[in-house]
Formats: sequence, structure tokens, C-alpha cells
Amino acid sequence: MIVVETFAEVRAAIGGRSGLVPTMGYLHEGHLSLMERARSQVDTVVASIFVNPLQFGPDEDLGRYPRDLDRDEELAAGAGVDVLFVPDGAEMYSEAAKTSIGLADLTAHFEGARRPGHFEGVALVVTKLLAGIQPDRAYFGRKDAQQLAVVRRLVVDLSLPVEIVPVSTVRDHDGLALSSRNQFLSGEDRVQALSLSQGLLAAADAVEAGERSGHKLEAIVLEDLAGRVEYVALADASTAQPLEGLTTDAFLAVAAVVGETRLIDNIAFSVDGDRVVVDRGVRLDRPSVLESA
Ligand code: AMP
Repeated sequence: MIVVETFAEVRAAIGGRSGLVPTMGYLHEGHLSLMERARSQVDTVVASIFVNPLQFGPDEDLGRYPRDLDRDEELAAGAGVDVLFVPDGAEMYSEAAKTSIGLADLTAHFEGARRPGHFEGVALVVTKLLAGIQPDRAYFGRKDAQQLAVVRRLVVDLSLPVEIVPVSTVRDHDGLALSSRNQFLSGEDRVQALSLSQGLLAAADAVEAGERSGHKLEAIVLEDLAGRVEYVALADASTAQPLEGLTTDAFLAVAAVVGETRLIDNIAFSVDGDRVVVDRGVRLDRPSVLESA
């Protein structure tokens, strides 16, 4: 694996078909599963690490976002990454960007409504990475379901020649969705945080037993939810609009603040007539690398 800092170096290092895994670093098995998927599908696996200031609001945790490049290099190499792109601020934004990408009602709800400007920041950095690297495929986690909807639509609207590959959420052995921010969860908070995945998994059981009402599924998630709840909602997977019933591909999403940490999670559903396939994510059978970080 080589570590490079410029787009030109990334392009020069690519041979054959390439896949890009964009991240903000402080890697865990969720990121690694994207890299491993890429490893199985393309010749050159590129991963990027860039904590993108544009996607953090003024009151968010940009300053305390966890960073550890040595550890990330070791984990990325172990997951089969060929090229690790670690640009500095000047390579990404030599001057403050004047170009912006409008996302219309894709950001009207859920994360978009709570984090003004967040998805516009994501859209700009993802577009820059796709334009500057020109990968054949790019890998995104279902963990960030609204982000996945935004990226898929952006690629269609801008005719970007890349295939977006969604990857299932990786969960800790107890069900908690892995997140770089989990390391802020202390003992009691870690226990409360489990209520997000437990509620979603109970709702997934209800779907498998035939429940299709958005309202009822949301009520199941809310029942034992701890922390300060921001939203619980069933949403259309491609438009990110609220859904009354499970009639099309969808995600059931939750956001809550536990202790000082804002957590999100969701379960994805693919709908084919009366048949619904539930993607609960995959569980680790050993402690996450985050625990030894
Ligand atoms: P981040 O570093 O948080 O920006 O995440 C980089 C990529 O990893 C995004 O596509 C995320 O959706 C994905 N990701 C983050 N956490 C997980 C997880 N637990 N399972 C699967 N993918 C994830």
C-alpha cells in the first residue's frame, strides 16, 4: 500500500479497474468491510481519509473528531487497500469553494433537516473525489442511508461514470452500529446506545411478521429508546422522503443523542410486491478494533 497526498499521485497509481472508499478515518470494521468488498471487485482499491470541514456545522464536533493516521494505515493495508489518499486541506480546497451542489428536497428531512449544509458539504467532497480520482466504482455504507440516497442521485444528475455500491451496516457483537464516534460512549452511555439497534431490530422482526405501517414501526423503535430522541422515521430509500407504509425500498432510521454523542442507525428494506427483504446489517463475532484504539 502506498500513501499519497495528491489527486495526480492517486491517478498515476491506478491500474485496471478501480474502486474508491471515501472515509473520514479513525477506521473500524464498517470501513474495512467497504474496503474488503472493493478488494473482491476491482484491481486497484483506493481509500481516502479526509475530515471534510464543509460537512460539519458550526456547533458540531469537527475539532474533536477522532484521528489516528498510523492506526488507519495499518488497518487499511490489512483490508487490501492499494492506495491510501490522505489529502491536506489545500489539495482539497486550494481556495474556499464557490461551487455548490443544491440537493432540493433530498435534504428536507432527517439528517438534512437537523444538520443544515451537511449534505451539501458531503456532495461537494464526494464529487471532488469522484472527479479527481475517476474510479469505476465507489463504495458507501448503508449506515448513512440518506447520504447513500444523496450520492446515488448526484451521480445520476451529474452523469458521473461511476457505479455506486452500497454495503450493509457492520454492527458490534451486541448490535450497536459501528461508528468512529462510539469511542465517546462511556459505560452507561454505551448501554443506553444499544436501545437504538434493539428498537430497530424489533421493528425488523415486526416487518418479517407482516407489519407494513410506518407509524407502527416507528412506535416499536420509540418504545424503549433512550437518550434525547431526534427522529424515528420510515423513509423512501431513493428520495429520502417520509413514507406512510412499507410499499417501496425504504429505511427505518433513528437519531438520538446519548450522553454527549449523537448517534444514527437504520435498517434497510427492499420491497418486491408483498415480499420484503430486511437488511439488519452484519454483526462482529469479536470485539471491534475500536475497543483497542
Ligand atoms: P465516515 O468515515 O463516517 O464518513 O464513513 C465512511 C464510509 O463508511 C461511509 O460510506 C459510511 O456509510 C461507511 N460506514 C460508516 N460506518 C459504517 C458501518 N458501521 N457499517 C458500514 N459502513 C459504515
